[in-house]
Amino acid sequence: MQQQNRLPNAILLSGPEGIGLKEFAKSAAMQLLCQSNQIKTNSACGICKSCLLYIAGNHPDLYSIEPEDSSRQLKIAQIRGLIEYVTLKSFIGNRKIVIIEPADAMNRATANALLKTLEEPPSQSMLFLLSNIPSKLPITIRSRCQQIYFKPAHTNADIDWLQSKLVDTKYSAETLFRLSGGGPLRALSLIEGEQLEFRIILVKDLKLMSIKSCDTVQIAANWQALGIDNILNWLMKIILDLIRLKLQRERSHLINVDLKEDLQDIVNSLDLNSMVRNYNFVLLKHQQSLSLMNYNTLSIIEEVLFYWNNSEMEN
Ligand SMILES: [Zn+2]
Repeated sequence: MQQQNRLPNAILLSGPEGIGLKEFAKSAAMQLLCQSNQIKTNSACGICKSCLLYIAGNHPDLYSIEPEDSSRQLKIAQIRGLIEYVTLKSFIGNRKIVIIEPADAMNRATANALLKTLEEPPSQSMLFLLSNIPSKLPITIRSRCQQIYFKPAHTNADIDWLQSKLVDTKYSAETLFRLSGGGPLRALSLIEGEQLEFRIILVKDLKLMSIKSCDTVQIAANWQALGIDNILNWLMKIILDLIRLKLQRERSHLINVDLKEDLQDIVNSLDLNSMVRNYNFVLLKHQQSLSLMNYNTLSIIEEVLFYWNNSEMEN
C-alpha cells in the first residue's frame, strides 16, 4: 500500500547548528529504505538486507554529498553526479535517498542545476536538504521542498523570566516555549486564551479515531467551534510531532511535549507515508483557507478528518 502513496520528493530540514539535522535525515533514510513491514515496529528493523547495508555504510540507494574541500562549496560536478544518480533505478528497494549537507553551500549555478531535479523529480527519489541558514537558499529551491524546521532551545534567562510570570497553570515555562515557537511574551500569551486546551481536544480526538471508528461528522462539528485557523495550525504542529516521534522515538524535539503519551498512541496507528500525506493535506487546506474569501469551514474540517480516517484504514 505504501507504494501508491507518494512522499514529497524533497524535504528541507533546517534549524540551528548542533540540533541534529543530519542525525534526523539519516534516521529517516534508514527507516525509509528498510524492507521490513514497519507498521508494527515503527522503526527500521535493523536486520533486513537494506538495514544491514545501511549500518555497514554502503547502501547503494543512499547518496550523500557535502563540500569536498576548503571552499566549503558544493561543486557543480557533485550536483551533476547526484542528478545522474537519481535518474537510475533503485538498486534494492523502490526508493533512493539523497542527503545534501549543507544545502546552502550551493552557489547560483549549482542551485540552478539542482532545480530541474526538484521541479521534475524522478518518482523513486527523495532528497533531504539540510541547512542551518535556509534563508541563504534561493526561494526557487525552498519553495519546491517540504520544509521542516527544528526549533532552537531557549536560554535559561528566558525560561527563568517566564517561570516567574506563571501562576496557577499546569504548564511549565519550558513547555510553553516549545508550544509557542516564539519569544517569552508569545509563550506567556498562550496561557491567556484557550488555545492550549483546543490542542488537547484535537489530540484526544485523533487518538480516539486511531482506536475505534468514530463519527467524524460529529468531531468536525466540535472542532469547528474552536476556529479553523487554530485547528489547522495546531494540526500541523501535531503531525510534525508525530513524524518526529516516528523517526526518533525521543521527546527532545517535540512541540507538544506535554502530550507525548497520547501522541505515541496515535503514531502506532499510522505509517510515515500517511503522516507526511496528512501534513501536506492540512497544509494545502490551510493555504486554501487563507486565500479564499468565502469557504465553508465545516467542510474543510470534514475533508481533513475524512482524509485522516482513510489514511488510517489503509494500514
Ligand atoms: Zn530493515
